[in-house]
Amino acid sequence: MSEPINRSGLRPRYWETTRLDRMTRAEWEALCDGCGKCCMNKLEDEESGEVAFTRVACRLFDDTSCLCAQYPIRHQFVPECITLKPHTIESHAYWLPETCAYKLLYLGKPLFDWHPLISGDANSVHEAGVSMRHRTLPEFEVPEEDWEDHIIEEPL
Ligand code: SF4
Ligand code: SF4
Repeated sequence: MSEPINRSGLRPRYWETTRLDRMTRAEWEALCDGCGKCCMNKLEDEESGEVAFTRVACRLFDDTSCLCAQYPIRHQFVPECITLKPHTIESHAYWLPETCAYKLLYLGKPLFDWHPLISGDANSVHEAGVSMRHRTLPEFEVPEEDWEDHIIEEPL
C-alpha cells in the first residue's frame, strides 16, 4: 500500500498499549506490514457483500518491491485509491485482508509474529509467504471479466 516504511524510533510494542486513534502518524504508518494485498483488485458480491481478492494488481503496483510505484502522487493516476485513517477503518475493515495489521488491531486481535514491527525485518512478511511480491498480474494484461479466474485464497 505505501512507500517504504520507517519503523525506527517507535515506542516498544506501542500497538499493544495505544488505541488506533491515539497513535502518532509515524506509529500509524508503521502498522502497514507491506503485504500489498490491499493493492489487488477485488471482486465484491453485491448480494452477500462478500469480498474476494484477486492477484490482478493495481496499475501502480510494483510486483518486485511489493509497493506502490507512485505513492506520493498516486491519486493523479488512481483517484479511487483509499487513504486509511483511524476514523475510516470502521468502514473499510470488511474488505481489508484478514492479515492486515489495521484490521487485526481494529478487531482487537494481535499482530502475527512475521509482522516487521515484531520481527524487526521488513522482509519477514515476504518470507512468511503472506505478501503479494512476485505473485501478481498487471491489470492491463487481464480483462476485468477474467478477474474471477485469479481469485486468491485468504490468508495466503
Ligand atoms: S493490506 Fe494492510 S498491511 Fe497489507 S499493505 Fe495494505 S494496509 Fe498494509
Ligand atoms: S495507487 Fe494502487 S498501487 Fe498505489 S497504493 Fe493505491 S492501490 Fe496500491
